[in-house]
Amino acid sequence: MVQLQRPSVVYMNGRVISWDEATVHVSSEALMRGVSVFEGIKGYWRHDSRVFSLLALREHFDRLRRSAHLLHLPFATSYADFGRACTDLAKRLLINEKDLWLRTTLFAVEGHWGEGTVTDLVILGYHQDKKRPEAVDVGVSTWQRPGDAALPARIKSAANYQVGRLARIEARRQGLSDMVLLNQWGRVAEASGSCVVLVRNGVITTPPSSEGCLESITVEIIGKLCASLDLPFERRPIDRTELYVADELCLAGTLAELVPVRRVESSILPEHTPVFGRLANEFWDCVRGVREHPGIRLTPV
Ligand code: PMP
Repeated sequence: MVQLQRPSVVYMNGRVISWDEATVHVSSEALMRGVSVFEGIKGYWRHDSRVFSLLALREHFDRLRRSAHLLHLPFATSYADFGRACTDLAKRLLINEKDLWLRTTLFAVEGHWGEGTVTDLVILGYHQDKKRPEAVDVGVSTWQRPGDAALPARIKSAANYQVGRLARIEARRQGLSDMVLLNQWGRVAEASGSCVVLVRNGVITTPPSSEGCLESITVEIIGKLCASLDLPFERRPIDRTELYVADELCLAGTLAELVPVRRVESSILPEHTPVFGRLANEFWDCVRGVREHPGIRLTPV
């Protein structure tokens, strides 16, 4: 059973308060209709454990603003104030040798069917072990990623995670770590909380967001790392059957990071993953500050 951490403090209503004080009313649209948009932001200790930085803060702020705009949620916080809120909370929660994952959520705390909406930015921080993820086995879900006219994947809303949750439950029942969700055309959309990236014939390939995946910040970073490593990178629709014959497959996301996939349903993928191996080494060196990279923006706390 997964036990969610219970950090001592939470950012809410413009300040850092205790966990117990951080409540939302049962009548709010946040609860009644699941109206909220959010971001997960990862913070890394530098390799020498002297500096702690948040990865891609600006990109997360921009996406949160886009999600809020698309769901008609007022979000007046400036980038400077958002950054301050994240760093204030991170400073309170930081402990040596543990990375942090911040969940910044904009909840609709007042309003009714989109009228008179008032929002509040809430930030939770969870400690993370500093280890690289291990390879996982995944399936292909019977649940489908809704299309742009149903539940746009571009909006990182709580509602979007209902299908992902069903897929995770389905995965667990089959002894798998996660599921790949297909879109309405039967092609690869994304996993429950990460994007799908594969290698075929030396080309690193991932679906464009019009296939029903989130506009991923990690995939954007992967594209930039590929450019500097001289690795071919393309976005194109991916058929389901390509999952089974991929040379290499990984799940990519802020929390997932770069997770190699060992098996898709009954298809065992090659053990040797030279392309993702290179890419992952570069990613970890850059987020841990071993090397600087213009595509990896770190904001010190
Ligand atoms: N798809 C979904 C459904 C996700 O929850 C995530 C994680 N935020 C991603 C893709 C990957 O996005 P990012 O790299 O920006 O974290």
